[in-house]
Amino acid sequence: MCVIRAWTKSNRPSTDMSARILIVEDEPAIAELIAVNLRHAGFDHVVAGDAETAQLEIDRQLPDLVLLDWMLPGASGLSIAKRWRASERTRQLPIIMLTARGDESDRVMGLDAGADDYIVKPFSMQEMMARVRALLRRQRPEKSQDAVTVAGLKLDPSAYEVSAEGEVVRMGPTEFRLLHYLMRHPDRVHRRSQLLDKVWGDHVFIEERTVDVHIKRLRESLSGVGCAHLIETVRGAGYRLNSRAQPSPQT
Ligand code: CA
Repeated sequence: MCVIRAWTKSNRPSTDMSARILIVEDEPAIAELIAVNLRHAGFDHVVAGDAETAQLEIDRQLPDLVLLDWMLPGASGLSIAKRWRASERTRQLPIIMLTARGDESDRVMGLDAGADDYIVKPFSMQEMMARVRALLRRQRPEKSQDAVTVAGLKLDPSAYEVSAEGEVVRMGPTEFRLLHYLMRHPDRVHRRSQLLDKVWGDHVFIEERTVDVHIKRLRESLSGVGCAHLIETVRGAGYRLNSRAQPSPQT
């Protein structure tokens, strides 16, 4: 069993591997408590105290998940959730609504507004963290720190290592992230623009040709363990990690 080690200064997962969570909460003590717990669990986070600040933050960079308080000064959490669901860019944004309103009709209203989950205050931090992890697993599997194995290739984000049978191969951090994403979504075709969004990040303006360059480097790295054939070019569509691909003589 060989170990492929990505090149990083610290040899630790870079912060862009961990999920980034936006906390929209106007009560500083609650916001801080949530922030501390997220930080301890290894998540990046940012706090917005009202709807306007939250929107500015969303416009700047899409988070991986939002913890959204219902009762906010100005526009309510409910109305922001509706607005985000109506916009193409934020339609898929994972949202957990936090509220003191625990009636069934309130829960229904929150979920109808587009929240993916709903936590009634006061809540335990363990419960909140469990729900955050569960929603990320469902909607942002590539942000999960769980190891993934496809076609004999194992990628362990927490150890920042890729292992396969055979020899040692090195790869850069971008190739590591790209492989991680493809392994989390095997056998699906990804357009270059999708890969730029998911691997390089939202709001990054890079030529689509850049993807080709990193795919080429990734294949070069994987060829060291005879796995380059797993990364397929789908003509006119994009790229795919084919878990059932068979090695061909030229790979
Ligand atoms: Ca509040």
